[in-house]
Amino acid sequence: MKRLGALLASLLLAGSLTACGGAAAQEMQSVQVFAMDTVMGLQACGGETEAALAAAEDEIYRLDEALSRTREDSAVSRLNSAAAGTPVDVGEELHDLIARALDFSAATDGAFDITLAPVSSAWGFTEDVYRVPEDAELAALLACVGAEHVHLEEGTAVSLDQGTRIDLGAIAKGYASDRMAAIYQEHGITHGIVDLGGNTWVCGGNLEGEPWQIGIQDPARPAGSLAGILEASDAFAVTSGGYQRYFEENGQVYHHIIDPATGRPAESGLTSVTVVADGTAGNGTMCDALSTALFVMGEDRALELWRSGVYDFDLILVTEDGRLLATAGIADRFRPDDSAGYAYEVVS
Ligand code: AMP
Ligand code: MG
Repeated sequence: MKRLGALLASLLLAGSLTACGGAAAQEMQSVQVFAMDTVMGLQACGGETEAALAAAEDEIYRLDEALSRTREDSAVSRLNSAAAGTPVDVGEELHDLIARALDFSAATDGAFDITLAPVSSAWGFTEDVYRVPEDAELAALLACVGAEHVHLEEGTAVSLDQGTRIDLGAIAKGYASDRMAAIYQEHGITHGIVDLGGNTWVCGGNLEGEPWQIGIQDPARPAGSLAGILEASDAFAVTSGGYQRYFEENGQVYHHIIDPATGRPAESGLTSVTVVADGTAGNGTMCDALSTALFVMGEDRALELWRSGVYDFDLILVTEDGRLLATAGIADRFRPDDSAGYAYEVVS
């Protein structure tokens, strides 16, 4: 079961798409793309709009192939199917992305873990054939899970230990949003929004010269119901939540974000985590990795990482016990939606 609540941002903005560019006014143009199992919306105005959108669309399809572990010919698949310990040249882009993923594992005490692939498969999330694995099956799979089983080799090669396989699903859209930001910049786009399904990047402000408004989905209500609205310009905002993908068996809900410590869907007391950061190159990837990791880590550890200053970001958290938290850095740009009924707190 999937919900595509992520197109909220574009929906909210639809009313403000008129023209930009002053004297040489241009229309806001948009394309919709289906890739990475997600409906994606791209809008742009100013600069070489058509060329930017065409290049952005091509790039999304390229990354969908390159970073997929279900396409046999992708570099990820070649790595996953190589004999244990064999260095596989995955190219500079994937090598660098895997290196960053390993850094995020270290910074989150292993909560972010690209080696959960066999565990996600055991739950059926990769193939959409859902089942609840036995404890013994999970224990056996967890023996091959952990960043220590991934080795950065000479040049642009990577090797994996016996039984280890990687899945970049928690970071691929964030990386794609970084690439979108680079393409928009190359083409001189002045206003735009890229919504890659829970991963939003806003370029400049809106056409009225104000910040864009990004809707944050209420994890407890149907798609389109908001927990609040974030105002942002030149920023990334990425949401992870159990509601985005889950199945039910015998009255129990099992979602897709796995706690590497247990091999089971994370039960951290959070129902949604949104990570917000400025438009600096690389921040799309960071927001995506951290939103997944902090969902696993829970409120206290998430806020601890925020306060540590290791990464520069802000947070919107929704808790199982009915609270909505925003960190001080974005509190003046976030408006909770009263109809969601959360007790709102600003954290400093
Ligand atoms: P996201 O939607 O960015 O939070 O990523 C969730 C996806 O990443 C899941 O569908 C899995 O493919 C994978 N995944 C699940 N748990 C983790 C985790 N703890 N660390 C890294 N990737 C994960
Ligand atoms: Mg993520």
